[in-house]
Amino acid sequence: MKLNLNIQPLSSWLNVKNEPLIISGPCSAETEEQLLSTAHLLAATGKVSVLRAGIWKPRTRPGEFEGIGSIGLEWLNKAKEQTGLPTAVEVATAKHVEEALAAGVDILWVGARSTANPFTVQEIADALKGVDIPVLVKNPVNPDLSLWIGALERINNAGITKLGAIHRGFSSFEKSSFRNEPMWELAIQLKTLCPGLPIINDPSHICGNRELIPYIAQKALDLDMQGLMIESHIDPSVAWTDAKQQVTPAALAELAERFSLRKPESKNEEFTDKLADLRKQIDKIDDLMIQKLGERMAIVEKIGQYKRDNNVTILQVNRWDEIMQKRTAFAKALNLDLNFTERFLELVHGESIKKQTEIMNAGKAEKGIAAEAHTEVKA
Ligand code: PEP
Ligand code: MN
Repeated sequence: MKLNLNIQPLSSWLNVKNEPLIISGPCSAETEEQLLSTAHLLAATGKVSVLRAGIWKPRTRPGEFEGIGSIGLEWLNKAKEQTGLPTAVEVATAKHVEEALAAGVDILWVGARSTANPFTVQEIADALKGVDIPVLVKNPVNPDLSLWIGALERINNAGITKLGAIHRGFSSFEKSSFRNEPMWELAIQLKTLCPGLPIINDPSHICGNRELIPYIAQKALDLDMQGLMIESHIDPSVAWTDAKQQVTPAALAELAERFSLRKPESKNEEFTDKLADLRKQIDKIDDLMIQKLGERMAIVEKIGQYKRDNNVTILQVNRWDEIMQKRTAFAKALNLDLNFTERFLELVHGESIKKQTEIMNAGKAEKGIAAEAHTEVKA
């Protein structure tokens, strides 16, 4: 499946001063002085192409700082006049869109909480009808690719063709070093579905702390993301929001200095030949893996029939434990990651159980019952 978005390439609507594209600025505009001084220092680094600032802040609890509001738009305009940097703000309602447009904001973005709600996205999209402005859509808080795609489609259907996505990580119940799990595979899936869609990584909201930002930012560049949105504050220690994850403009410049930029492709002939050769080897192995999985499944079918004819349960825990132990030990000896091996085996095993459940229930059960039996076994 490919996503049918009608979009213009990033280079046609954004002037990138210095590769990679960096959008930076404070999490929140707090005071005129804070915004202007941050903007000046960021512009002076020569690394920043767009100035961001939150004017209306979506806060988890009431009573926290909910953004400075419309006055911040005037400060942003001043910052633009003085530094030449185009501006970007988050919009979450039709009123925000109207105010931001009236104030001459250059780029709008839809925040993670808004993307999770189709009503909100549709309200924003409706307010954007007939307007020609770039819009960036953050991933939803929850790891749901369809919601992210749906929001991009709604904005695109409103006629916005200067469109991009922002990968800011996903909320997860499990404890982790990140504030929001990167779950790179979702951003990669989006890229695969729509190769022309620029994806900008937001390491600040993924990390939740300054220390991890270089690692995530570099990884995003290695994955060929089109740019970075990094929060920066003149004095992060006193920031009114997201204090732990903001960096000073000087730290941002240092970070940008250290990025290794890799090209998506190389014209060097020796390189292309070698890569083509290695890819051929991979293709062969992939074909073999699929062939072997097919053979494995044919044996699983036989086992299913055999168990059915002898009235034996599908799942035999001892056998599964034994498979896991032996295979993971083997994989470890081959330097394969334990977690990867376990997930792979679980996937294969799950499919085998599904197949056997179908065989067990063939003829006597409706599809629904087979599916129920499958869930029980897995549980
Ligand atoms: C922000 O960019 O400051 C913000 C609120 O981000 P998110 O919507 O990703 O939480
Ligand atoms: Mn923030």
